Amino acid sequence: MTLDVPAPPTAPAPAPAPAPAQGLTARATHDGVKFLLALFVDLTGKPCAKLVPVEAADILQHEGVGFAGYAVGALGQQPSDPDVMAIPDLTSYTPLPWVREDLALVHCDPYVEGTPWPFAPRNILKAVLGSTELELFAGAEVEYFLVHRDDTGRLTPADARDTDAQPCYGARGLTRMYDHLTDVSTAMNTLGWGNYANDHEDGNGQFEQNFAYADALTTADRVITARYLISVLAERRGMTATFMPKPFADRTGSGLHLHLSLWRGGDPLFPGERDHGLSGLAHQFLAGVLEHAHALQAVLAPTVNSYKRTGAVSTRSGATWSPRQPSYGGNDRTHYVRIPEGNRIELRGADGSANPYLALAATLAAGLDGVTRDLDPGATGARTRPDLPPTLLHAVDALAADPVVSGALDAAGPGVAAYFGELKRAEFFDWHGTVGSWEHDRYLTAF
Ligand code: GLU
Ligand code: MG
Repeated sequence: MTLDVPAPPTAPAPAPAPAPAQGLTARATHDGVKFLLALFVDLTGKPCAKLVPVEAADILQHEGVGFAGYAVGALGQQPSDPDVMAIPDLTSYTPLPWVREDLALVHCDPYVEGTPWPFAPRNILKAVLGSTELELFAGAEVEYFLVHRDDTGRLTPADARDTDAQPCYGARGLTRMYDHLTDVSTAMNTLGWGNYANDHEDGNGQFEQNFAYADALTTADRVITARYLISVLAERRGMTATFMPKPFADRTGSGLHLHLSLWRGGDPLFPGERDHGLSGLAHQFLAGVLEHAHALQAVLAPTVNSYKRTGAVSTRSGATWSPRQPSYGGNDRTHYVRIPEGNRIELRGADGSANPYLALAATLAAGLDGVTRDLDPGATGARTRPDLPPTLLHAVDALAADPVVSGALDAAGPGVAAYFGELKRAEFFDWHGTVGSWEHDRYLTAF
């Protein structure tokens, strides 16, 4: 709920992070860094890392660091498989003195026996980005709650005074979290991410800290780094930062809105003469996103909890601000795709549990399919498409039936979409197999 990504339609494409002139050892030594967090995520977005001392930075740079892939989590590996080697992408090197004075993080590409591992989300996004001569730029709005969990497991906003019925933009709620929010802001701006706003969102305990758009891979890396940084800094203050889509049934959920635009050779391709100041290409891309929305939700909203966000009819504050249908409109936050200005589209389907690499890969493939097939998004504002999937299970079925979105997950090698689908199907049934208080309340004495 902020001013979004401030880029006029004619703004030049932001330069991708420059390739470092020096190796990892020199960079780290120059920055006083003694340890490197060599990090990558599995298909669920879980950040996995090894702490590598600067003395071994050369080895890390040239050979990578090894992981038992099965232990990582959802990475398509068996216990008998050879090591996953995490090879650092030096352009992602990020000093993190706010976490520890002598720490830097570097995002890694997982390899197995010298080949990029096809189940690794960063490799998947790189493969989809490499499949087109067009460039995808993305901004991501990271929403999250700061909570406490008591001994009984009950969640409350970390700020006990954060109880207003209409907490959005509340100046006092924002100020009470000043130390945390400004630490994150300072970190983002020192890193050159261009943090331009920090606000109290619409749920009690909910915040958003915006940073400027960048090329899709950089933005995906930054979402992972931001979640890590925000979580660590919140823990320091005795709070839990959660990106789960719907921590409280009666409050707004946490989205991961994606602002998307295509460019070619530094020129923006989305501004144009059609509706909302968009080009024909932007309309085709938008149509592709709408066409594949049901399957996309399996990737953009990949947890059981996600569907409590998009399925909600209202919240305590009066609105959910999350979409229920694949529709699009102008500067109207009730749509699946909002068009804030004629330079980008804002996809509001993704939530805080989305893996940003997979989300951007799948959305790019969906949009490009719209371009290839010259699809038309239909009338602006129309709400005629079937509702978004009501549960994770419905979304996974839609994914299995959609070769374009499945194809994006399989972009670095086959079998990933099927594996992801099985994983998510099992997650759904794992949840479905539990018996909770809703059932006790409803059924215990009902018969
Ligand atoms: N929190 C809302 C969501 O779940 C979005 C609110 C906003 O527009 O910032 O998507
Ligand atoms: Mg928001």
